[in-house]
Amino acid sequence: MNTIAHWIDGQAVPGTDTAPVFNPATGAEQARVALGGSADVDTAVAAATRAFEAWSESSLSQRTQVMFAFRQLLVDHEEELGRIISAEHGKTVDDARGEITRGREVVEFTCGLGDVLKGNFSDQVSRGVDVHDFRQPLGVVAGITPFNFPAMVPLWMHPIAIATGNTFILKPSERDPSAANFVAELYRKAGLPDGVFNIVHGGKPAVDAILTHPGIRAVSFVGSTPIAKYVHEQATAHGKRVQALGGAKNHAVVLPDADLEYAANHITAGAYGSAGERCMAVSVAVAVGDAADGLVEVLARKAREVKVGPGNAPGTDMGPLVTKAAQERVENAVGTAATQGATIVVDGRGLKIDGHEDGFFTGPSLLDHVTTDMDAYREELFGPVLAIVRVDTLDQAIHLINANPYGNGTALFTTSGEAARRFQRNVHVGMIGVNVPVPVPMSYYSFGGWKDSLIGDSPIHGPEGIRFYTRPKVVTTRWPQQAQSAAAGFDFPTSD
Ligand code: NAD
Repeated sequence: MNTIAHWIDGQAVPGTDTAPVFNPATGAEQARVALGGSADVDTAVAAATRAFEAWSESSLSQRTQVMFAFRQLLVDHEEELGRIISAEHGKTVDDARGEITRGREVVEFTCGLGDVLKGNFSDQVSRGVDVHDFRQPLGVVAGITPFNFPAMVPLWMHPIAIATGNTFILKPSERDPSAANFVAELYRKAGLPDGVFNIVHGGKPAVDAILTHPGIRAVSFVGSTPIAKYVHEQATAHGKRVQALGGAKNHAVVLPDADLEYAANHITAGAYGSAGERCMAVSVAVAVGDAADGLVEVLARKAREVKVGPGNAPGTDMGPLVTKAAQERVENAVGTAATQGATIVVDGRGLKIDGHEDGFFTGPSLLDHVTTDMDAYREELFGPVLAIVRVDTLDQAIHLINANPYGNGTALFTTSGEAARRFQRNVHVGMIGVNVPVPVPMSYYSFGGWKDSLIGDSPIHGPEGIRFYTRPKVVTTRWPQQAQSAAAGFDFPTSD
């Protein structure tokens, strides 16, 4: 059986312990993944520290050339990488190709790094004195990533870290680790020197070794909120910069003036695409006033039309969940919702796919009359379950969203510009869609939620990514004419 090894200093490094990697569509173990610990992290930090010496001295042009080549390799190998992701995650190949495209956009952002990294220059701030600033890389930095976007979420991190002159250690999810190794190969083919991009696979022991290692300057984390809080606490306590993105419960609000067919179409795709395993998935539809009955009817029809099957079968809309535990957790949550008073309009439990009876499948579920005290509303289910909450007014919808501890994404479906403006100004959420269900920002903006969806203060990629992976220097310069011999002043310097 294939064992997925660590990747350190340009070489595959086998681990001593391993864990199983499953094919979620069949339920069968298909590979083993190395489980790293502090010794592996030490080796990776040593390699990345050595590589930093030369890489941080390379020119902006050399670094962007690697990114141009890497970008083209991601285009050329999109289908192959998409199939690798689909086989371990379960999502459809087209959906996996979509995440590669969105991740590649971050690489494209770094191809224009020369412009983004330009500093400021102030001429003659005082007589004969100029000031300029510039940014430098931090050193060795690390990324810890979730299972649900095994290509895109790491791509939010490493292209920016590497292009700005840092060296990088990735700790991918142990559930779908192969995409990371494939990307390491692409970097090598793109001409990236050994030791600049490294991978240590594993679970908590590998994470803990990263969080406490004195040679790592910054940690980027994306995953569930409890682990984001833990990572933020541990890594800041060990003197590191941290960006830590957490979980979500995303509401899509539908006003009575919205085109219900359009709204339901997009909410269905946002709720059940990738089996709901997206941090920007729509998990709550908030039906305002008269919109409710009509919306539920169309959503139910569309949920029943979702084609569930293996991710590599043509025509599949939605694949299995990532693990058996996830399948059981989601199906139990649907049962609990019913006992707590929700109406199950569409029941996805117990779905069997011919020829894939042991796969981790569950069908789309639609729950109506969900209230804020129910588990189905309070918990991030991270599965294909859409809860409908009914309210009377837009302001009640905004109040509901603001009272929720998460604040990653939200959407409003309406034809009213006034309502859209009121919504985007008043809602306590980081990423907002107007008639757009999954409003993931482009790579030249930054991605990040509010409240429990982002711990600390640093969103990811775009301008915030540049800021996170570099630190500024401000230089004040005077070149006195040799003949002048002005006395140095002892008072605190001011401009004159
Ligand atoms: P997770 O928190 O279980 O795992 C994330 C990473 O942390 C993995 O690399 C994992 O190995 C590691 N980890 C897990 N348990 C740990 C522990 N006890 N100590 C140290 N490290 C640990 O998340 P997941 O299940 O892989 O991914 C789904 C979650 O990620 C959802 O909550 C989803 O909303 C969130 N997510 C958020 C965003 C965002 O941008 N906000 C994006 C994608 C996913």
